[in-house]
This record gives sequence, C-alpha cells and structure tokens, in this order.
Amino acid sequence: MSKRTPIIIGNWKMNKTDGEAKEFVAAIEKAVPEGADFGFGVPFTALSASLSASKKLIIAAQNCHYEDSGAYTGEISADMLLALGIKWCIIGHSERRQYFGDSDETVNKKAKKLFEKGLTPILCCGETLEQFEAGETEAVVRGQLAICLKDLSVDQIKKLVIAYEPIWAIGTGRNATREIASSTCALVRDQVKVMFGEEAAAAVRIQYGGSVKPENIAEYLGEPDIDGALIGGASLKLDSFTAIMEAVKA
Ligand code: 13P
Repeated sequence: MSKRTPIIIGNWKMNKTDGEAKEFVAAIEKAVPEGADFGFGVPFTALSASLSASKKLIIAAQNCHYEDSGAYTGEISADMLLALGIKWCIIGHSERRQYFGDSDETVNKKAKKLFEKGLTPILCCGETLEQFEAGETEAVVRGQLAICLKDLSVDQIKKLVIAYEPIWAIGTGRNATREIASSTCALVRDQVKVMFGEEAAAAVRIQYGGSVKPENIAEYLGEPDIDGALIGGASLKLDSFTAIMEAVKA
C-alpha cells in the first residue's frame, strides 16, 4: 500500500432521499475505521442532511457548474455547495458525459472553479468498451487528462483525486482485472508526472471505479498506484459498504 491515505468514496448517483441518506450516513459513521478516508457522493437534495449526520465522512456533491451564478436553470454553483459546508465534488463522471453533455473542456472549467472556491474535485476519466477493445485506453485516458487538468497548479494537483473508471466496468459486474486497473492507474499517474512533475505525481490520489465490491476491493488497494475506489452499487447497502470498510481495514 502506498504512503498516500486511501480514499474510498461511494457514489450514490440518483439514489436516496434526504431522510434515507441521513439514516445511512449516521449508521456508517459509527463504523468508520481509522487510516483511510471514506465518504459518499450524495444527491444535492441530501447534502445538508448527510453533512448534519457526519463528522468523519467526506460528503461530496456529484456535480457543479463552472460559472459563479447566472441563467443556468437546474444548475448548482460551487459557492452554493460551499455555503452548505460541502468541500468535495465529483466531476466528469461518465454518466454525466454520456447523458448530460459534460466534456473534457467543461470538466476542466469545473475543476478550476472548485479549486478557486476551496473545494476538492474527484475527477473521473475512463474509456468506453469500444475504445478498450480497440486498444485505445492509454491514448483516450491521457487525452482526457491533458484537457481536464490543463492550467491547474502543482499545489492543486497534490490535493486532487482522480478516479479511473472504465465505462465497460460500471454497473456491469465486469470489474477490470487487477492488472488492467493497476496499469491504467499507473499511466494516469505518469500523465500527471508528464504535465506537473514528480512531486505532483507522487501526491495525487488515484481511485479505481467499476464494479468494486467487498470481495475485490483489497486486491485493488494492494496495487502501488491505486489509492482507493469510487463505488456505485455496493455503496448503496449498509451491509456491503460496511463489508468494504472491513476489507480496507484488514
Ligand atoms: P458500480 O460500482 O456500480 O460499477 O459504479 C461505479 C461508478 O460509476 C462509481 O462512480
């Protein structure tokens, strides 16, 4: 395991009302082990309730807009998140890219805005099944990061979390092998090194995401360039998330 503190985030996506979120967070809060960062990506409507039930967990938003304010119906600004006490935000998830038009360019704008406001992004990248099968993973992921991380500072990169989520592994039960996850997270780190140097590359935390479960999380965390996981389905139930925390502790 690396010297970087592991970071395990459950991404709830469009699940859980404010009441359900509060109850869940309160139950998990009692069992959070030391030695790793744990938390959840929470729908906007449940952020306050989740935060009120938690002292130890990271409570992250799942998206934000890159402008400060204005005529953007349905959008939420970094300032609005900050006013709730939110310090973390997932950006560039493949579902946002697929269904809501997020692009590397808007992800870059969001990352800059979040850092400007003092929030930390969890920035997602990853290739499609078609790109994976065509052997294009490296080119795609390096290309995404070249744009998404453009003009950030070394100090910002040191705080950043990057989630490598191959789209073919999300919600499919077909998790990437340890070798694929490990080698792609290594190339994510190398791309950070190319852009920002050794020190930034040594500090940035990189997660693997895609069908992570209690049974497979430990093998990913044993890899030198994997510092954590972004977990969808297995983060929605108390028993599976508790089992994940146990596996990380062990
Ligand atoms: P699953 O863990 O359900 O595959 O989802 C992964 C994901 O998209 C986390 O952001």
